[in-house]
Amino acid sequence: MRPASLSYAGFEEPHFLEACHLCSKSLGHNSDIFMYRGNTPFCSQECRQEQIGIDEARERRCRRVSKKSTSEIKKSSTIQSETLLVA
Ligand SMILES: [Zn+2]
Repeated sequence: MRPASLSYAGFEEPHFLEACHLCSKSLGHNSDIFMYRGNTPFCSQECRQEQIGIDEARERRCRRVSKKSTSEIKKSSTIQSETLLVA
């Protein structure tokens, strides 16, 4: 029995490698490409670092927004400052 999957595996054109994800500078075949998260190309380390910063900031914001316990945080911070006042 032969596996039927001997066709075009791995033959897809990586069209997303054409330009830097941040500054849209075209990425030539002989220039360095800095990958991030597996499939996001950047023309330089600086561009990639900036995107990492953007992503981290976005994730932090998302996490803060998704937290429903804003009142809880307020309460605990009040308690904390009260404790500070007492101490
Ligand atoms: Zn770039």
